[in-house]
Amino acid sequence: MHNILMVDVIKNIKVNLLNYTETELESFFINLGEKRFRAQQLLQWMYQFGVNDFSSMTNISKALKSRLADIAEIKIPVVASEQKSDDGTIKWLLEVGGGNCIETVYIPEKNRGTLCISSQVGCALDCTFCSTAQQGFNRNLTVAEIMGQIWLANHAMKCIPRENRKITNIVLMGMGEPLLNYQNVIKAMAIMMDDNAYGLSKRRITLSTSGVVPALDRLKQDSDVSLAVSLHAPNDALRDQLVPINKKYPIKLLLESCRRYIEDEARRKITFEYVMLEGINDQPGHARELIKLLRDIPSKVNLIPFNPFPQTNYKCSSPETIDKFSDLLIKAGLITMTRKTRGDDIDAACGQLAGKVLDKTKRTLNKKNNNNYRAML
Ligand code: SAH
Repeated sequence: MHNILMVDVIKNIKVNLLNYTETELESFFINLGEKRFRAQQLLQWMYQFGVNDFSSMTNISKALKSRLADIAEIKIPVVASEQKSDDGTIKWLLEVGGGNCIETVYIPEKNRGTLCISSQVGCALDCTFCSTAQQGFNRNLTVAEIMGQIWLANHAMKCIPRENRKITNIVLMGMGEPLLNYQNVIKAMAIMMDDNAYGLSKRRITLSTSGVVPALDRLKQDSDVSLAVSLHAPNDALRDQLVPINKKYPIKLLLESCRRYIEDEARRKITFEYVMLEGINDQPGHARELIKLLRDIPSKVNLIPFNPFPQTNYKCSSPETIDKFSDLLIKAGLITMTRKTRGDDIDAACGQLAGKVLDKTKRTLNKKNNNNYRAML
């Protein structure tokens, strides 16, 4: 990897420094005949001070600044639009080239600010209730495009993380399946946790997955962030329909993998996400099945009111049904929360992202991509 960085330099391609971890940047500077600590300085400038031009980096020599400007860049995704919801939620639509857009959403709460970021352009998984699935899979995001979303959100909110922090938590719950962009997501999360970059604790970063079991098993070796699992159904017959990757990695395998993820950490819990779909998965019988399933796993259940989008036949369960479902889980001893829907006036709620951006031709093309991509799973 370090060599790839230098190969780009030799080939005269500017390297985007947002793509690299601290160790990689250290090698980069050593290869340039510089001191290792330049990597820490650079990370601090980029992430803590939100600087993207070398000329502002006051503790770096003039000669190195001009060398960096020749061979490297700090390239941020371009903002196509910014929308603010009445509840303070902000949604950015970002262009990532080739007419592709991704979305990033900031959700302020009383004691924290959560940034929901994307890991892929589109998604290959075809969950029937998710609008991203409608557009199919296009490509993985680079580390720079993942980190660029955080950089940009800070910049747009005029926030210098070193001085005041608006983003206290990051969730990989935007577009895409993070575990299918494994290498880049692992690196990006390492940068988020790096004290010279954003320095977030592992508990403040949540990776949400629909259950790519082999990758989930690997995750434990490579990272230890918080885990959210999109369960959505308490039995295989129903989950096969809602989250088709279940046909490949059914509930039993998924839950075994979840148990392994937290087995040697006494206080850790897994969050199980459960979207509330009227008449589909929201009946008392489903709640009872769910209780049986999760009884012996340290878990929290997050009930998500379904957010509708054009072309969907699903409806959100009524508030009464959701309350009843939630009460049954709570009475059985499961920690249960119902997610407040945020930013729905700007289509920034879960599963509504970027659904309106893509034209039909592209969608068909991307659906073909899905099939190719899925063959690799
Ligand atoms: N691919 C990952 C992360 C992206 S989805 C995953 O599946 O977990 C983030 C969360 O939003 C998931 O729990 C997903 O199931 C949920 N979601 C998707 N579409 C939704 C919708 N229309 N309404 C409510 N939640 C939805």
